[in-house]
Amino acid sequence: MPEVMNCRRCRKIFMYSGTGPKICESCKKLEEEEFEKVRAFVREFPGATAQEVSRETGVPTQLIYRFLKEGRLEVSESSPIALQCENCGVRIKSGRFCVQCSKKLATDMIRMGRTLSETVQKSSEQLTKETAGLRYLHGERKETKEK
Ligand SMILES: [Zn+2]
Ligand SMILES: [Zn+2]
Repeated sequence: MPEVMNCRRCRKIFMYSGTGPKICESCKKLEEEEFEKVRAFVREFPGATAQEVSRETGVPTQLIYRFLKEGRLEVSESSPIALQCENCGVRIKSGRFCVQCSKKLATDMIRMGRTLSETVQKSSEQLTKETAGLRYLHGERKETKEK
């Protein structure tokens, strides 16, 4: 479902198609060009650090890391541009988590999804307050009256 939102890059209001990064068409084009620059540079100079890539391509390092996190940009095994698993800190090539943690988190996510669907009837306000406790309540429905 398309929805109206602010571009994450230029804050302009645009219609978001529901897929891909939340940026407007013109920013998407710009980012595509930047991505190509980074990819070409990394391919040519696999030993370059993120700072060097940034300096040579004019693309901010945060964006280079985002490309990596999104799994779009791949760097070689020996590249100094590396991401760390956000969970255990091990060196990874793309995404946010290492293979082991991804698996573990996927399982957690499914469990969490079930918990959330059980509480869907409750107001979202209550939900955020109770999410932490729900893990221990284990499906046992507790009726709390909010004042
Ligand atoms: Zn934009
Ligand atoms: Zn990990």
